[in-house]
Amino acid sequence: MIPFVQDGVPQRVVFGPGAMARVAEEAARLSLMRVLVVATPGSGARLGARIADALGARSAGLHAQAVIHVPVEVARAGIAAARAAAADGLVAAGGGSAIGLAKAIAHELGLPTIAVPTTYSGSEATPILGTTEGERKVTRSDERVVPRTVIYDPDLTLNLPPAVSAASGMNAIAHCVEAAWVPQATPVTLAFASEALRRFSMHLPRVIDNGADREARGECLIAAWLAGGTLAAGTGLHHKLAHVLGGFGLPHAETHAILLPAVARFNLAAAPEARARLAAALGNDDPAAALAALLKRFPIPQRLRDLGLGEAKLAAAAAEAAALGITAPRPVTTAEAEALLAAIY
Ligand code: NAD
Repeated sequence: MIPFVQDGVPQRVVFGPGAMARVAEEAARLSLMRVLVVATPGSGARLGARIADALGARSAGLHAQAVIHVPVEVARAGIAAARAAAADGLVAAGGGSAIGLAKAIAHELGLPTIAVPTTYSGSEATPILGTTEGERKVTRSDERVVPRTVIYDPDLTLNLPPAVSAASGMNAIAHCVEAAWVPQATPVTLAFASEALRRFSMHLPRVIDNGADREARGECLIAAWLAGGTLAAGTGLHHKLAHVLGGFGLPHAETHAILLPAVARFNLAAAPEARARLAAALGNDDPAAALAALLKRFPIPQRLRDLGLGEAKLAAAAAEAAALGITAPRPVTTAEAEALLAAIY
């Protein structure tokens, strides 16, 4: 019998086509009168403007300046914008970047947040807040940044480009795979991981083939929500390697996607229970092969060199990852980490 601790996330989730129209009602439910919408520029800003419109009299404007990994100066500008707008709440509209900025503002000002996620990052379901200063990424966990309400509207995701869908989907799949072997796993995180993987493996390929497939889009949003719930269990070699490579400037979701089959092959050799669980969820006796086949099918970079990483950096990345002292499900030496990275370079 394995002891565990499970923290529940107090969160209301509203799911359905057209659910975005309920944003004003959901703001009212939280007694919010002046809500600032936070989004990324470009397509994110257009989505943000639609949501600000839907908020009607409760809108306190749009701040469409979110940037991936929440650079501290971007966080400061967001906090200043929320103060200037006298906001009493936030709507995070878009992917993990918009949600990350809203979390940073919520952390500083204690504002309740409604998330309207349009990618599969799963950040809306976690208390994890990441910011970056220069090249250094700092993550912490704070329950106050968990969005109070999440509105999933598959219709908002029909135009999410195939490459972003695939990369953020593989990133979410990585949360689930790692959840199967981390020592902090609980019955809840394991159940969420299996169910999310089952839905993703069936529906993410459909989304890549036809972005307008509403049914598959909805299934992937549900899977992303469940995948986010598994992150609470902590992370292992996969996320640590992704984090180290992120420090060399590699893109977040794409790096996760490339690493995943190789790390799965390495770790599952020492984790028979996790292997059996993942095999059942993915419908394949060889889970690492199933993950490699998914990656191969998707229109995203396939090898580390495609991401612009210099080959000379592999040794440093391997040494950094090995120095973290990971032991579960197996320890990793510098030589093993380097061989793993070289194989996917
Ligand atoms: P992202 O938020 O940067 O979005 C990727 C791109 O897709 C952006 O250009 C965005 O404008 C565009 N986009 C988003 N929704 C769209 C839509 N519906 N239609 C068209 N374009 C759309 O990428 P992401 O992968 O969602 O998030 C990555 C970030 O999230 C990273 O900073 C990562 O560290 C963070 N993250 C955090 C957690 C957590 O728990 N804190 C979990 C996962 C990821």
